[in-house]
Amino acid sequence: MTKNRIENPQASTTETMSRRNALALGATMAAGLALTSSVFAATDKRKVVVWSEGTANVDPGSKGIYPDDINSAIAEGLKPLETDGWQIVKASLGDPDQGISDELLSGTDVLIWWGHKKHGEVKDALVERIDARVREGKMGFIGTHSCHFAKPFKKLMGTACSWREYVADGTSAEIIVKDPDHPICKGVTTFKLPKIERYGEPFAVPTPEAVPLDGIYTRPDGKTEPGRMGLCWTVGKGKVFYFTPGHETYNDYHRPEVRKIFINAVAWAAPK
Ligand code: ZN
Repeated sequence: MTKNRIENPQASTTETMSRRNALALGATMAAGLALTSSVFAATDKRKVVVWSEGTANVDPGSKGIYPDDINSAIAEGLKPLETDGWQIVKASLGDPDQGISDELLSGTDVLIWWGHKKHGEVKDALVERIDARVREGKMGFIGTHSCHFAKPFKKLMGTACSWREYVADGTSAEIIVKDPDHPICKGVTTFKLPKIERYGEPFAVPTPEAVPLDGIYTRPDGKTEPGRMGLCWTVGKGKVFYFTPGHETYNDYHRPEVRKIFINAVAWAAPK
């Protein structure tokens, strides 16, 4: 069909039919283009998946703090990222494919992981896929608190990942912004956690490339000791961040400072 035919006022009936068909075809093509651009818009969104094992909400000490488990609290804190074009997805060990299907993983920019009692249930094949995606630079990984013994974190670190001790005895902590220029510390100032599970140094991990957040524990008897609170690595081509606080019987993931740290960490860990 030519431009001339559309504009020809003397068009025959046959030509008019052609023109109608052409217009209909044009409309279909326009709809197709609109669909295509909306598909592109959907894939343009960056995706952060927040995974937890589904045990925090059953711990008697955490009832009321994390009624919908820790992934829900972390995901809620990430909501401001939605206006920056991020999609936030919750995943849990009890979901099909342990919460992370191949399809979901292949579209994930950052994976956040909290686990404690069920590390051993996470399938090695899933761990391999997570590790590979991080090393290929396609996804960042954020581990928090008892995730230090989670299979994906241990795989990425390649070390024992143990702390010297784990004590929840009423110890408090000051979380110190050690590197205010680090992207993870943007808008965060030093703050206190009235209770924290004390993870004693040393932490058996590779030397981090940055420790933007440091800390001082104060025991109930007043004695103090240092403990790193936010550590960064590059593993292969991917970014990894570990945040030390986050015991299931304390409300850390509801605190604005912690939420800001997680928002910043997602942006930092995402492939550029
Ligand atoms: Zn804990």
